[in-house]
Amino acid sequence: MDVSRLLAPLKSVFGYDAFRPLQREIMEASLAGRDVLAILPTGGGKSLCYQLPALQRSGLTVVVSPLIALMKDQVDQLQAAGVAATFLNSSLSAGEARSRLSGLERGEYKLLYLAPERLFLPDFLQKLKRWQVAALAIDEAHCISEWGHDFRPEYRQLATLREHFPGVPVTALTATATERVQGDIVAQLHLSDPGQFVASFNRPNLTYRVMPKQRPRRQVLDYVAANRDASGIIYCQSRRAVEDYAAALKDAGHKALPYHAGLPQEERVRNQEAFIRDDVQVVCATIAFGMGINKPNVRYVLHADLPKNIESYYQETGRAGRDGLPAECVLLFSGGDIAKYNHFIDQVEDEQAARIARQQLRQMADFAEFADCRRGALLRYFGEDYTKTNCGSCDNCLDDREEVDVTVECQKLLSCIFRINQAGFPMGLNHAVDVLRGSENLKVIGKGHQRLSTHGIGKDQPAEYWQGLGKQLIQRGYLRQSDDGYNTIELTPEAGQALKERQKFRMKPIRTKMASPASRAKAKSGAIECDEGLFEVLRKLRKDLADARGVPPYVVFGDV
Ligand code: ADP
Ligand code: MG
Ligand code: ZN
Repeated sequence: MDVSRLLAPLKSVFGYDAFRPLQREIMEASLAGRDVLAILPTGGGKSLCYQLPALQRSGLTVVVSPLIALMKDQVDQLQAAGVAATFLNSSLSAGEARSRLSGLERGEYKLLYLAPERLFLPDFLQKLKRWQVAALAIDEAHCISEWGHDFRPEYRQLATLREHFPGVPVTALTATATERVQGDIVAQLHLSDPGQFVASFNRPNLTYRVMPKQRPRRQVLDYVAANRDASGIIYCQSRRAVEDYAAALKDAGHKALPYHAGLPQEERVRNQEAFIRDDVQVVCATIAFGMGINKPNVRYVLHADLPKNIESYYQETGRAGRDGLPAECVLLFSGGDIAKYNHFIDQVEDEQAARIARQQLRQMADFAEFADCRRGALLRYFGEDYTKTNCGSCDNCLDDREEVDVTVECQKLLSCIFRINQAGFPMGLNHAVDVLRGSENLKVIGKGHQRLSTHGIGKDQPAEYWQGLGKQLIQRGYLRQSDDGYNTIELTPEAGQALKERQKFRMKPIRTKMASPASRAKAKSGAIECDEGLFEVLRKLRKDLADARGVPPYVVFGDV
C-alpha cells in the first residue's frame, strides 16, 4: 500500500508526524479488508487505528465503545479536526437524536460512536444496514471476555454482529494483553483469520545511558571519536548548537553535517541523503530531522540537550538500531537545561499549555535522574507492564555498585511527607525537602510547617540527596505527584504500609551532584532567606497586616 496515503491525513487531519508502533500496520490490514485484533498499550493510540481508516473508506465506520463519557470528547475532537463524526447514546435529547439519525440517513457522517446496547434496540440494526457500514471498530474489546478486568454483559451481544454485517471488516482493540482474553475476543466476535498485532514499546537492542552534562562540546567530540565509523545522530535544542557541533566535528576530522529547518530545502535534502547513503557518519540536528527517515543502521543517538518530553525522547532515540542490531542512546543531562526550559515555559501565555509543558518536562527530568532501570521507566510511561528488574542494557542496570540500606532515610522522608499531607499543606517534593531539612524559607514557615514534628529531621543530608531519594520513592510507587501540573507530593497506600511494617529499603547510593549555577539561581529567586532578627520583624509585620486586612497570615506573607 502507498504509505503516503496514510501519512498525509495523519499530519493534516490529526497533526501527528509519525505513527506509533503498529498503528500503520493495523490500518493497512484493516484497509485491505481484514479483521484485526490490535493490542496496544494504554496511550498507544488505538483510536487513530479506526479513525484514520474511516476517512479513507466510502461509507460509515461504526465504533462501539462502552465509555459513554468519552464518546463526546472523541467526537468533539474529531469535529474540531474537521471530521464528520457523531455519537448516539442515552445522553441526547429526543430532538437531537432525531436530527443525528436523519443526518446518518443522508450519509453525512464518516464515524458513528455507539454504546453496545444501542445496537440491539428494536429496528436499529435495520437502520444501520441502510447506512452503508464500511467498517466496525470494537474499542475496549476485552469487555467481551469474562477473563478481562472489565467484563460487560452488553458486549456479549456483539457476537451476532458478524452475521448482520458479513464481509464488513471488524477491528477489535484493547490494551489487555493476556492470551486468554485475546483468544476470547477472536472467538466471541467471530473474527475470521484476523491480523493480530501486539505492540510492545520495548526496543531490546537499544542501550539507554544518561551522562552528566559537564563540558558538552568535549563530550560530544569524544563520543563521536570513540565511535568513529558508526552512523549517528546528535540532537540539539537550537539551530545554533547544531551548526556549532557540526563545525567542531568537521574541525576534528569527522564527516558531519548539520540539519535544521532554517537551512535551505535543497541543502536539507542533500544532507539527509548523504547521511542515508553513509557518505557522512554524523548528522547534528534539531528535532526537524528524522521524520519519515528510515535508516536502519543508525548506531547511536546522542541528545546533547534534554528533549522536552518522554514522547520525543522515545521517538528520537527510536531512530537508532532499526536494523535490530545493538545501538546506543545517550543523553547529556544537567539541571541547567531544566532551568532554561522552565524559563521558556514561563513566557508561555496559555496557562493550560504551560502547565502541561511543565509536567512533561518534569517527567523527562525524572527519567534522566532515575536510578533504576531506565527501560522499565520508559515502558511504564507508555503503560506497559515491564516486570524485569534488570534489563541488562541501561546504565543503571549495568551499574554494579552495591545497594546500601536506606531504611532510616526513607522513613524520615516518608514520615515528613505524611505529616505534611496530614496537616493538609499541598506542596511539591522540593518544598517537602525544605521542611525536612528545617529550612527557614519564608514560603515554608509562613504556612506553619515549622510546627510539624518532622521539620528539620533531615539536616544531615544535602537537599539533592533527599530529592534523589524522593524520586526513587516516586518511581517505586511509594510517593506520587499530582498530574495537574502542580506536582503536589503525597504518600501512596504502599508507603503507609511500609512505614507501619518498618519495611527495609535498599538502593544504589544516591548521586548528589552539584546543582548547576542556573538552577541554583532559579532556586534562590523563589525564596527569601533571612536571619532570626529580621524574621521576628517580619513575623510582627505579618501579624499587623493580617489584623488590618482580616485575612489569614500566610496570604499576607506571600505578598511581602
Ligand atoms: P489508547 O486508546 O490506545 O489508550 P488513544 O487513542 O487515546 O490511546 O491515544 C492516546 C494519545 O496519543 C492521544 O492523545 C492521541 O491523540 C495520541 N496519539 C495517537 N496516535 C499518535 C501518533 N501517531 N502520534 C502522536 N500522538 C498520537
Ligand atoms: Mg482508547
Ligand atoms: Zn535497565
